[in-house]
Amino acid sequence: MSVYAIVQLGRVMDATRSIILVDNSLISLHKDLTDALLSETRYEKKYLIVQDRSLYEGFLTAKTEFERSLDQARTLGAYSGARDALNNAADFHLVYSSLFKEETESLKIGADYPASWYAAEKEQAVNAAIEELIKIRLISQQSIFDKVKKLSEAGTRARGIAMAVSAAMLLFGVLLAVWITRSITRPLKVMQRKTKDIAEGVFEADLKLPSPPEIGELAQAFNTMCSKLKEVDKMKSDFFALMSHELRTPLTAIKEGTNLFLEGKGGEVTEKQKRLLTIVSEESNRLIGLVNSVLDLSKLESGLLTFNFKMVDLSLLIARVVDEVGPLAEAKRITIGREVGDLPALSMDPERMLQVLRNLVSNALKFTPRGGTVNIVARCVEKVFVIVSVSDTGPGIPKEHAAAIFDKFRQVPGSGRLPGTGLGLAIVKHIIQIHGGTVWVESGTGNGSTFTFQLPV
Ligand code: ADP
Repeated sequence: MSVYAIVQLGRVMDATRSIILVDNSLISLHKDLTDALLSETRYEKKYLIVQDRSLYEGFLTAKTEFERSLDQARTLGAYSGARDALNNAADFHLVYSSLFKEETESLKIGADYPASWYAAEKEQAVNAAIEELIKIRLISQQSIFDKVKKLSEAGTRARGIAMAVSAAMLLFGVLLAVWITRSITRPLKVMQRKTKDIAEGVFEADLKLPSPPEIGELAQAFNTMCSKLKEVDKMKSDFFALMSHELRTPLTAIKEGTNLFLEGKGGEVTEKQKRLLTIVSEESNRLIGLVNSVLDLSKLESGLLTFNFKMVDLSLLIARVVDEVGPLAEAKRITIGREVGDLPALSMDPERMLQVLRNLVSNALKFTPRGGTVNIVARCVEKVFVIVSVSDTGPGIPKEHAAAIFDKFRQVPGSGRLPGTGLGLAIVKHIIQIHGGTVWVESGTGNGSTFTFQLPV
């Protein structure tokens, strides 16, 4: 655009210079020439009447002036179409001055000569010369007109081209900006999605983002990070699985041994020893529970836990769990309410589903104070899914912790006073998800809490 503008400006300058230096000068020289020629004729006519030397000198001065202007015009005329007209004017002027010269020579020697014929010839030559000079003026004016017209056309063309180029550049700029922005935001969105996956524990390193190069490098680093995280996560799961497995055998031996002592199989036990043995038995039970939970969770996370799906009536599982926890509820004077509607048989692993129900109900009993209530409600919604909820009159769960308690080792601050591992709900979430369902909690501090899971029919 700049080069085009510079070229156009150069043309405008050339045309303007040509108008000022050639055409305009020719017009003013045309005036000088006409004035000089008319001056010549005035002096010549007067001289022929009075034959005064000074008039002849005046004629010569006007003639010199005419010739000087003619020379100047010829140098300019070389650049315009006025050259022929100038040559013709020069020829007619020569004829005129030759005729006058002949007349002056005849006068000098006092010879008779045809004065009227000379007058007529001179007039004809002068008129012809003036006509040629007029032509020069017309040619110059036409030339100025043509150049100005061309300038205006060039201006219009330049404006059109400038507007078209500007519009094209603007469009190009916008498209380029959109393309650059998208080439950056698209891979960033992919990374954002992948980061969410990582936060949820999916460490697959499959980012393929070759461009732009900076993002490509970032994606590479991201993939390396994912591989490392996956490695570390596997090491951690393997470690938990190994440790739990190794701990379970000796713990079971301790528990069995303690029970045998308690039953008196190892000889007479005093009351004090019984109390101590009971504590050992309870603690080893708790430890076995913890180890089992850790083992279950690491197997669930690594997908190694096998599920035996079959069609099961969920209401039977609920009844069984209520029976199991009956003595504990009675001890704490907690009322267990049960509203179980007509439920269709669902495909599930009954052992794992019992684990879910036991966990939710025993949590409810654990966190509900003496004399409280625990309610179990199960119903089928529009034959699409079954909803089971366990609500209690316990302390509730503050909103900000409601989502986090389903992560492993997460407990609501302050609830650590009650025995627990923070693994139960993580296992519940995994099992429900494997059954194609979802689990959530609704609660407010002090209002009790309601844990609900939903299973597809
Ligand atoms: P824990 O063995 O600690 O009970 P869970 O995963 O079962 O582990 O529960 C995680 C945490 O969620 C608990 O420590 C407790 O803070 C909170 N929680 C679970 N159930 C209830 C409930 N019914 N009422 C109040 N808080 C609960």
